[in-house]
Amino acid sequence: MGRSIYFFGAGQADGDAQQKDLLGGKGAGLAEMTRLGIPVPPGFTVTTEVCNAYYAAGKVLPAGVEDEIKAAIGRLESLRGARFGSADAPLLVSVRSGARASMPGMMDTILNLGLNDEIAQGLARRTGSERFALDAYRRFILAYADIVLGVPRDRFEDALGRARRQAAAKLGVDATRLNSAELERKVPDSLLDPESLAALIQRQKDIVLGATGRPFPDDPAAQLWGAIRAVFDSWKNHRAEVYRKIHDIPEAWGTACTIQVMVFGNLGDDSGTGVAFTRDPSTGERRFYGEWLPNAQGEDVVAGVRTPHPLSLTGTGAGGADDGSSLEARMPAVYAELFAVQGKLEQHFREVQDLEFTIQQNELFLLQCRAAKRTGRAAVRIAVEMAKEGLISQREAILRVDPGSIDQLLHPSIDPSAPKELLARGLPASPGAATGQVVFSADEAERRAGQGRAVILVRSETSPEDIHGMKAARGILTARGGMTSHAAVVARGMGKSCVAGCSAISVSQGRMAVTTYDDHGRTTGAITVKDGDLITLDGGTGTVYLGAVPTVPAALSDEFGELMAWADAVRRLRVRSNADTPHDARTARNFGAEGIGLCRTEHMFFDEERIQAMREMILADSELGRRRALAKLLPFQRSDFLGVFREMAGLPVTIRLLDPPLHEFLPQDEAQLAQLSRATGVSAEDLRHKSEELAEYNPMLGHRGCRLAITSPEIYEMQARAILEAACEVAAAGIEVEPEIMIPLSMTRRELSLTRALVEEVAEKVFAEKGRRVDFRFGTMIELPRAALRAGELAEESEFFSFGTNDLTQTTLGISRDDAGRFLGAYVEAGVFAKDPFQSLDVAGVGELVEIGRDRGRAVRPGLKLGVCGEHGGDPSSIAFFERAGLDYVSCSPFRVPIARLAAAQAALAAEAARGPRATD
Ligand code: ADP
Ligand code: MG
Ligand code: MG
Repeated sequence: MGRSIYFFGAGQADGDAQQKDLLGGKGAGLAEMTRLGIPVPPGFTVTTEVCNAYYAAGKVLPAGVEDEIKAAIGRLESLRGARFGSADAPLLVSVRSGARASMPGMMDTILNLGLNDEIAQGLARRTGSERFALDAYRRFILAYADIVLGVPRDRFEDALGRARRQAAAKLGVDATRLNSAELERKVPDSLLDPESLAALIQRQKDIVLGATGRPFPDDPAAQLWGAIRAVFDSWKNHRAEVYRKIHDIPEAWGTACTIQVMVFGNLGDDSGTGVAFTRDPSTGERRFYGEWLPNAQGEDVVAGVRTPHPLSLTGTGAGGADDGSSLEARMPAVYAELFAVQGKLEQHFREVQDLEFTIQQNELFLLQCRAAKRTGRAAVRIAVEMAKEGLISQREAILRVDPGSIDQLLHPSIDPSAPKELLARGLPASPGAATGQVVFSADEAERRAGQGRAVILVRSETSPEDIHGMKAARGILTARGGMTSHAAVVARGMGKSCVAGCSAISVSQGRMAVTTYDDHGRTTGAITVKDGDLITLDGGTGTVYLGAVPTVPAALSDEFGELMAWADAVRRLRVRSNADTPHDARTARNFGAEGIGLCRTEHMFFDEERIQAMREMILADSELGRRRALAKLLPFQRSDFLGVFREMAGLPVTIRLLDPPLHEFLPQDEAQLAQLSRATGVSAEDLRHKSEELAEYNPMLGHRGCRLAITSPEIYEMQARAILEAACEVAAAGIEVEPEIMIPLSMTRRELSLTRALVEEVAEKVFAEKGRRVDFRFGTMIELPRAALRAGELAEESEFFSFGTNDLTQTTLGISRDDAGRFLGAYVEAGVFAKDPFQSLDVAGVGELVEIGRDRGRAVRPGLKLGVCGEHGGDPSSIAFFERAGLDYVSCSPFRVPIARLAAAQAALAAEAARGPRATD
């Protein structure tokens, strides 16, 4: 282990921004800001290595670390001319947790540490405010009791209520009939007088004694050791564990612990605290943006109890329109300094920064900087604008945007012309439209979402304990809190719709009471929304509607188009789309698809008229009967292909011939059976019999795919005819067409030579009839292990392979996707799979079969075209593998096409970086 402690203060720091692994993001940022000459209260960081050693030794600090910490405290004392544990010149510190990746609010931080009765009096003398000193002290006891001693905060609520009532009596306020929320509004913390605070402190200590059997620790040194241990312990608390799981953060990273001299934002009206972003994290607009609270401590902004004021109404640093509440208006000099600091930090890090600051009696201190979490929309705009400003390169811009995050941009928003019933307005905390049932607890949100229901989580405010419910919900609505409250920050990180600070609602006892207003802001009445009622959120405008409101497709920004163009210029993998209809094909093209990688013909048979003919075909006893029924289907099928070919003019279209077991097309209930019986003249009894005959024990491995063509070749004959007639027709109209006929579920050469002969015979007939030829390709899916292993012989008959990774995953793992839900979660939990293999390709297993298929196929046919269709074609980490594997294209659902284009570009850049530095850049 290297050194345990990294000091920062007075313009010098042992660590720097590169050392996030060791110092955590917070410690590294504080060190770097100190080096840059930005005002930061001095402190030191105990490394993540110490945390890991602490756990390895069974929760014991390694030898020597305590002495190093004492020495570092000594350095802080001489820097500040104060003493930790002294009443004459008290030094207070915060003990802060911070991991490599930011986990907002997930772990614990303790402020105002180093107080006891005597030192609190000393602090009162030093600051001239007994009220301030006692308030700091009672907050410290509360936090320390909760975090270190395990006495939860709510145990102290009655004591706080009594203090408020005591203060109310002195103020002449009648508090007898107020509930706790009303009481807090009437007598906020700032109105608690020294006498009530002193009584409160005594009561808090009594509660601690009662709950733990020991007095509250009076010795500042004991407090410090307790707090450091608690910070390390918080790395493995439940909410941190849940957060790590959601965000793929390894437990082995550990957290660092920073001990830092306290500065006070609650020393009066010339003090305050706030949070700022160097650009708007919601839209990406380049303006300095943030919120602050006068006379408050940092935790007050995050808690969202008081509603904060904007830093500036223009965010330009040039002043302008203002209502007098902004920091810019109230403390222009401090604002100007903060504005300069944020500019410097963004230039230095070449990245949008999220800042915490505190002002103590007109003096500015920075307490945190980190790369800001942002919406997908903001990420795109920021990356493109920074590249244009010359701050980063186009390649960096491509790498800056998480492909998963642009999902939100591609999704629908509220239809502006739809009728809707306005319920309330709040802050536009995280964009996107979401409709769902109202639920009032995180557990309930998780439970109901687990039953497949869309829910909106409604809370007064959220806390880290709600994280699982927020993940399960479609959207989040809170009554309190600003744009930087917990709910807002977490929702943006998850890409979820969120309306925060919606003050017209109040939530209690499983109901949400909504006060309604007219256009002039006058109260018009009240509405009660119950558990299970439907509401719709528009997180982009902060609007809440009653009921379900229709949505419209996304409108993509210019910056989005630019980023995509840059991505397209560097990627090697082509991106196609899965599309079964002309409508899907058009959507896919609009999103930039370069062809159709999978057109599933069976979806075309489920229409009312068509299913009838399909059923006749299935029920026919003879080849002749089947052909008669198929003849009815031919024109439908041909016109479908016509539409798709026209939409995709000039781009390849891969059409998979019939794949599912025939049983799927038969009637599912008695009414349908009776109808079919009337239509075909076959008795219901015989139909039932036939249906039973076709039923399979394991349809996934049954009579499906090309196995249908081996027993009834006329089905594929009809489909080949429909494809080629449509192709000839489109070609005759002067439109380019590139059909690819694909055989599903093959595993032997013979299956392919039989179906190929069949397709070629049909082709010759059609070309003769039409008097023209069109080029088409014949190929197969690779979705069985045997197909991958015998790819050499399959390549003799195929001009292309498309890896059907859904079925290939099922057949390789021997896990049916439809049944996997029961145990796959446990498998991921237990670490058997890192991720759900149906979402993210099992590279080690299924991936190896893909590589075997590639090698053996290309050995026989060097130009063999290779693609992927299935969920994995739109999954960024799977795409990274397909790039490394040298496939030609991926195909995914239309809405994922832009995600795949960006992921393919990032994969290409990563592959390039792995090959070594480029000659020019
Ligand atoms: P989190 O990771 O939850 O943001 P922090 O360690 O950043 O926790 O601290 C919580 C709040 O306390 C923040 O608002 C922070 O700015 C404030 N804070 C932390 N240390 C100090 C300090 N030494 N002086 C004043 N405020 C502080
Ligand atoms: Mg913080
Ligand atoms: Mg398949």
